[in-house]
Amino acid sequence: MKTVSVNTSKPYKVKIGKGLVDKLAEEIQKVKNCKKIAIITDDNVGRLYGKKVESLLKDFEVCYFEFSNGEDNKSLATVSDILEFLAKNKLTRSDLIVALGGGIVGDVAGFAAASYLRGIDFVQIPTTLLAMVDSSVGGKTGVNLSAGKNLAGAFHQPCLVICDQNFLHTLPSEEIKNGLGEVIKYGCIADKKLFDLLCTGDVFCNIEEVIYTCISIKADFAARDEFDKGDRQKLNFGHTLGHSIEKATAFAIPHGQAVGIGMVLICRWAQEHGLTGAGCAEEIDGLLKKFEMARKYDFTDEQLWGAVANDKKLKGSDINLVLLKDIGESYLYKTDVNGLITK
Ligand code: ADP
Ligand code: ZN
Repeated sequence: MKTVSVNTSKPYKVKIGKGLVDKLAEEIQKVKNCKKIAIITDDNVGRLYGKKVESLLKDFEVCYFEFSNGEDNKSLATVSDILEFLAKNKLTRSDLIVALGGGIVGDVAGFAAASYLRGIDFVQIPTTLLAMVDSSVGGKTGVNLSAGKNLAGAFHQPCLVICDQNFLHTLPSEEIKNGLGEVIKYGCIADKKLFDLLCTGDVFCNIEEVIYTCISIKADFAARDEFDKGDRQKLNFGHTLGHSIEKATAFAIPHGQAVGIGMVLICRWAQEHGLTGAGCAEEIDGLLKKFEMARKYDFTDEQLWGAVANDKKLKGSDINLVLLKDIGESYLYKTDVNGLITK
């Protein structure tokens, strides 16, 4: 078992290990003296693991809420249903929410935890690779609005994260690829050794080490810039164009894999402008190929950059791009978005 300490305003631990969830009750008791626990999950994860996790918590008074999987349910309506459920079951601030699932469950249950009684504690049990290496750590919670993704939310750190790689045995390969997009990102922005391991080693034989490395990097960024004002933005490497690709394909290319393509495209652009060392785009593309991730898309550069320029979240026409100096070293580069479209 490995542990990462996340030193944000409310510090907590991320524990990583095969079969770790079996010790869930014990681990919870170490961080919180509570009587009641609400398990929040989606229908897929609930079918596979709901009963098991419920039985692991038999010493507590447990209530259980399940919502339908999928991005459409990452909504205020789901949060509202959860809040009503928590109130009906009379949870108090001394009680606890357990978010069992992928990134969507973590985001929705985390946002409900942030707002119920103005904030109650929650434990993240990520069950996808993407949630393990990325979204379950760092305290970003939230939902989509009809105007766009992740437009409503809160910073609310969990009190514990339990990463048990055994959950990955049932995860479809497309979802594994999604997680690998973020894993590659961590190698690119901060850890050449991780990147080399992905290139030459067997990621699945080394999965505990890989998850530990990604979480350590994320914890470091989150502790230094909890509220995303500066350096934490480097975690968005590949995401600017990645989001355009997600949108342009109506999410047929899902987040992690869109980020994969986004990383290649931004490096290609930066290499052409002398802003990134030669060969980075090709090395990243080599990894997408190795892991059989999405690499093809039907858009012109103009379409993709055009979508970036129209992003509602942009302040004026300035954009902070995350670029690589080289693999393992990243920096923020502020530029005028309108200058990006013509090459
Ligand atoms: P992500 O973690 O990539 O943000 P989701 O939370 O939407 O995304 O999870 C992706 C899909 O995988 C969902 O349909 C979810 O129900 C399903 N899922 C999550 N964890 C597992 C698992 N361990 N085994 C099988 N399916 C899972
Ligand atoms: Zn991401």
